[in-house]
Amino acid sequence: MIDSAAIRTRLADVRARIERAAGRARRDPASVRLVAVSKTFPADAVRAAADAGQLDFGENKVQEALQKIEQTSDLPIRWHLVGHLQSNKTKKVGRFDMIHSVDDAALAAKVDEAARAAGRRIELLAQVDLARETTKHGAAEDALPAIFDAARAAQAAPLVGLMLLPPAVDDPDAARPYFRELRAVRERLLAHGVDAFMLRELSMGMSHDFEVAVEEGSTLVRVGTAIFGGRSYVRS
Ligand SMILES: *Cc1c(COP(=O)(O)O)cnc(C)c1O
Repeated sequence: MIDSAAIRTRLADVRARIERAAGRARRDPASVRLVAVSKTFPADAVRAAADAGQLDFGENKVQEALQKIEQTSDLPIRWHLVGHLQSNKTKKVGRFDMIHSVDDAALAAKVDEAARAAGRRIELLAQVDLARETTKHGAAEDALPAIFDAARAAQAAPLVGLMLLPPAVDDPDAARPYFRELRAVRERLLAHGVDAFMLRELSMGMSHDFEVAVEEGSTLVRVGTAIFGGRSYVRS
């Protein structure tokens, strides 16, 4: 059973914490979008959060997402794919509004093709691998200029910013240097001549560290556990 009241309460709490963090950084709270990550939770959990006014939802698996998108198609929801996108799944992404995890130019081009075929606009973020963790997805900084350059040809799936999934740390403050570094990467790309319009979003911050991320300039926080509760099983 879904505890709708608990989801409503936790959502209000997360929103209040985002507002306070924005206040500390003298940022407009409206410049931070909350993406409720509903992976592993059923469509009824999405429904409960949507009833509480939540608009943006995130999933990390295409198949699981498509099912929930179908089950909640009566609701005004913007869907985000926050997990890795395999290139053989790009044809299925026409129902997403934003994909946070693009890490090479060919993948971006395939999504653009799928968006055109679906008659939709899909915004893309380039996932950055700052820690150079070879097991993780994401592009190294030196690969980013080529990705942004290629993306200027996009017709339906423009690149609009950067995404970071930092190494897991216990202390939220230990994530701060990574968030600062993503902002610095953004500055270097601007200096390199990348259009500011392609760098307007910074997707960073999860349940345990979204307040620090907001203090460091995040425009999209991806929050699951703090809204929906603990996940009983883990999907990578
Ligand atoms: C699961 C997931 C999140 C949300 O994680 P929580 O710790 O539950 O807030 C955010 N981003 C990505 C890419 C995820 O896979």
